[in-house]
Formats: sequence, structure tokens, C-alpha cells
Amino acid sequence: MIRGWCPTAWRPMAAGDGLLVRVRPQLARMTRDQMTGLCDAALAWGNDQIDLTNRANLQIRGVGEHGWEPLVAALVALGLVDPDPQREARRAILVAPEWSEGDDTHRIATELERRIAELPDLPGKVGFAIDAGPARVLHADPADFRIERGAWGDLILRADGREMGAALVPGGEVDALIALAEWFVATGGHDTGRMARHRTPLPRWADGVDRPAPPRATPAPGRHPFGVAQGLPFGRIDAGTFRTSGADAIRTTPWRIVLLEGATHVPATSTLLHTDACVGAPACPQASVETRDLAKRLAPAIAGRLHVSGCAKGCARAGAADVVLTGRAGRYDLAFDARAGAAPAQAGLSASQLLAYFGTS
Ligand code: SF4
Repeated sequence: MIRGWCPTAWRPMAAGDGLLVRVRPQLARMTRDQMTGLCDAALAWGNDQIDLTNRANLQIRGVGEHGWEPLVAALVALGLVDPDPQREARRAILVAPEWSEGDDTHRIATELERRIAELPDLPGKVGFAIDAGPARVLHADPADFRIERGAWGDLILRADGREMGAALVPGGEVDALIALAEWFVATGGHDTGRMARHRTPLPRWADGVDRPAPPRATPAPGRHPFGVAQGLPFGRIDAGTFRTSGADAIRTTPWRIVLLEGATHVPATSTLLHTDACVGAPACPQASVETRDLAKRLAPAIAGRLHVSGCAKGCARAGAADVVLTGRAGRYDLAFDARAGAAPAQAGLSASQLLAYFGTS
């Protein structure tokens, strides 16, 4: 099943373990009070589990039908959800998380949040990336329209699926982003759904010849100039642990890492940080197999990246992994150096066959 929309706090998704309520912290940052309030809300109305998504959003899981209303009211009061559902739906903005007050990323993302109502009504999965630091860090993360650093040091506007971008006038970045979104809608973007599939030639002002700047490495778990970069196996943390992190503020990233501002304690690194696994069955109704327990058992035996996906959609990892298991009709398909759903090297294996194959049974 492919859904054409992304869940928001106002439009939660029904999962196998209850409603899933998504929170999009402004500029990918929460103050200590917001973080504490979010954790308390997850403990009160969710199942204590918080997921960090590959768009740097947080998801409270396991929310009951009667818990959703007070939960959303609490999130609105914390300033983590816009009181207007339409505005909230438009806030699909991925922000390079290591911004500093007043720099280009902070300035542009703040302006885009402020002017969010000016965006046209876009297909549900369309999103923006503001990656305006000295070098790009969101190059591998999905976004339909980007403002990013160009190879000559200026800022460029780049549409997904296009290699080159168009130079921007300083101060006019958000105007250009809104204009490109309007062009997308006016030229049939609702039919194609995503910019990468929208092959209509770009308008001349957006069809630039500026190459993006080379990317730089994303932060690794451990000490970080802000405090500590903490890796989250499978992108999950329980609310109780999150609440006691001791951080002054927290920044979310699309890399299964949170940046804990002002923290000093560096947690032990988990081998599972090289493993991707979606929630699988029974939490996801589209999964026919269990994913995370199997991933934990296989991970020590696999050199390189392991991806266990409950179905061919591959929510946990868009790119290729060294070993990929894709659930199908209650069994697993095994592929190498591939994405979820790729043609398998071996099809229809059971969990015990896989454990034996990798020598872990
Ligand atoms: S990849 Fe996993 S989480 Fe995504 S739809 Fe499939 S089973 Fe569900």
C-alpha cells in the first residue's frame, strides 16, 4: 500500500500499536522544557516509545483513540505543533541541524516557517531542505526543493532530480522557494506527486548551471561542539531516557542521531548504529514479518550495513545496504548491496534459516 500523505499531529496514522503522532520541532530544535513536555506527553498518552524519522521528525507511538486529543493540545501548548492543521501540514522542512543563531540556515528556515501560509497546497510527501551552512550535509536526505551551498560559495536553489541549481539573490531565498513551489503546482505537480518525477522543464530563473558544493561528513556519535551527538539504534528512544538526558536543548537530525546541547556524558556506542530496521510486524500493518529482534541477532555477524525491512517500501533506509532482508508473505528475501525490495539472491527464507546462513544460530 502506498499512501500519498505523511502523518502529522493533526492527521495521525493508525499503526498496529495505536495512533502515530508526528512532531516537527521548529528548526529541528527543542528547548529543555519542550523536550520534557514531549516526554511527559509520550508517557501519559503514548506507549513511552519515541521515534526519530529520516526527516528529523519525532513520532510518539501507541496513542489510544482517547489520548490523541489531549496529547495534541499538550503539543500545541508546548509550541511543538501549529494550532492550525493546514499550516502544520506544510511544515515539511528539513533543516541542517548544526546552525547557529543568525547564520544563513537559521535566517532562511526562520523566514520560511514565518511565511509557511504563502506556500501553495502541495502533495503530501513534498518537502523542503534548508542546507545553507558552509558545506552541505543534507545531500543524501530526501527533499523536493532545496536551498544549499553552491560550489562557488553562494547559495543556490535546486529542484530534486536536477544536478545543477540556480544562484540566489541574498535575502530572496524564500521568495524563490515559494515561487518554485507555485510553479510546480501550476505545471501539474499534483499529478506527478514529487519533484524528482516532475520532468516539465524548469522555468528559466530556476534552471541554473551552478553545481552544489561538495558535501561534508555528518556528525558521528560522541563528543560534538554543541555537547554530545547521541546515536539512536533504529532511531528509537524511550521517553524516560530522553527526559533525563541532561541536555539544555536537543536538536534532531535525519541520521538517527540527536545533538544534546550542553551534555557531557557520552553514552557507549551501539553496534546497532550500523543496522537499519523499520518497526515491522505487528506495529506496522503493512509488515508480514518481525524486523528488529532479527536485526539485533544478525548484526554482530554482519560486516557492513544491514537493513531489515518489513516490506518492499524500505522506510528505514532509502539507499542500498550491504545485506538487505525484505519481508514478503511472512518470509524474508535476501539481497546484497541493494535496497529493500530489490531482486533477491535468495527468496522466501525463515528467520531460523537466516540465522543459520549467517552462522548465528
Ligand atoms: S518498510 Fe516497514 S514501516 Fe515501512 S511500510 Fe513497510 S513494514 Fe511498514
